[in-house]
Amino acid sequence: MIDFALTEDQLRLQETARKFAEKEVKPRAAAIDRIADPRQAFDAEATRKACALGFHTMLIPEKWGGLDLTMNDFIIVIEELAAADIGFAMNLAVSCSVSKMVADNGTDEQIERWLRPYCDMRGETHHLVAFGATEPSGGTEIFCGDPNPQLGTRTTAKRDGGDYIINGAKCFITNSSHAELYGLLVRTDKTKGNLAANSVFFFPADTPGFSIGKIEDKMGHRGMSNGELIFENMRLSEDDRLGPEGEGLQILMRCYHVNGVMTGALSLGLARAAYEMAVDYARERVIWGQPIINYQAVSHMLVDMKMQIEAARLLTQRIAWATQNGIHDKGIHPAMAKVFASEMARKVTVDALQILGGSGYMKGYPAEKYVRDSMVTTIYDGANQVLRNFMAMEMF
Ligand SMILES: Cc1cc2nc3c(=O)[nH]c(=O)nc-3n(C[C@H](O)[C@H](O)[C@H](O)COP(=O)(O)OP(=O)(O)OC[C@H]3O[C@@H](n4cnc5c(N)ncnc54)[C@H](O)[C@@H]3O)c2cc1C
Repeated sequence: MIDFALTEDQLRLQETARKFAEKEVKPRAAAIDRIADPRQAFDAEATRKACALGFHTMLIPEKWGGLDLTMNDFIIVIEELAAADIGFAMNLAVSCSVSKMVADNGTDEQIERWLRPYCDMRGETHHLVAFGATEPSGGTEIFCGDPNPQLGTRTTAKRDGGDYIINGAKCFITNSSHAELYGLLVRTDKTKGNLAANSVFFFPADTPGFSIGKIEDKMGHRGMSNGELIFENMRLSEDDRLGPEGEGLQILMRCYHVNGVMTGALSLGLARAAYEMAVDYARERVIWGQPIINYQAVSHMLVDMKMQIEAARLLTQRIAWATQNGIHDKGIHPAMAKVFASEMARKVTVDALQILGGSGYMKGYPAEKYVRDSMVTTIYDGANQVLRNFMAMEMF
């Protein structure tokens, strides 16, 4: 029999994450959203506290200092954090997914060097990881399967004995100005087609030749830093390369399976927050002598919102379970959780704003923030159109 109930442990985890999010994240989310300078819009204090709970290490095995959660546990926490503020949740979610990439592919020496210090939970500072794949020439171009070596990743790593000299730039990168460890997808072979030409490297923030460029001023997710990573003759060694040379894109694609589930959970948290706000408002707002929730046009919208959230949650849980157990069912692509839930969140947040009427459009309620936040979940971690291309290629 299939059991849809959360276990006792999962219920406890959910309660811990919910209490933390409501106490430490939600009260400051609106103020951080309104900070005009994107370089200042980051809740360092709440991030530090989240790291003290290990929320940056959720997908790292216990033997290396992580919380060692399953994918299904992970999405419980991410949904709770995202319900308080999706930008805050994304900072940690990306760190979990990228640190898992290191845990899954790193040598013992790399894990000691990169993950041990990162897994520190003393709460003295925050620990975040960033990963740069997207380039100004196009985030979608990174996945290019064309054999023409002119297409795909443009940032290059040129061999110099046992070292590599890296030149180029990445853009829009999450955690760009708050990370202690950076990952990078880079072209190590200029003669091969994109699929076989890339490698992944990791390096600390103070590596010579690395600098952070423009920090983007964004529409939503304002509590998250997104910016340029610039490489000018940055020298890394073979020991800084994660996995074999030429297999970088394959390593990244496996990470995208986690990201699909993660963005599903982020979208769920956002949509749930918008739905709960709309229900509260509809119960309190009295028009023509009765609460607007009594009007069928409103209550039907709320029912539809709830149904879509529940459907997205089931799909996300299903794909989280498959990802955890290494099951890849043909016809159920990991990106489905991300595509379905992100589009659901867009619709649910817009419907929530509609239920609040004119008040929804004003800054006094978080409705307009939720709509702004929802606009990008269909774009990051692979634009939904491109993910549909991948699904179609696999399915038909
Ligand atoms: C808030 C935010 C956070 C991000 N964080 C990170 C990060 O941490 N690391 C990172 O590497 N990147 C990150 N990105 C970049 C993100 O992954 C890219 O924006 C995304 O992959 C799309 O790339 P692009 O913006 O260059 O759009 P383009 O690649 O220029 O695409 C533009 C449009 O064309 C469509 N399109 C392009 N090619 C095709 C095709 N073959 N078929 C159909 N449609 C197509 C796309 O779907 C899209 O709608 C982030 C972006 C944002 C906005």
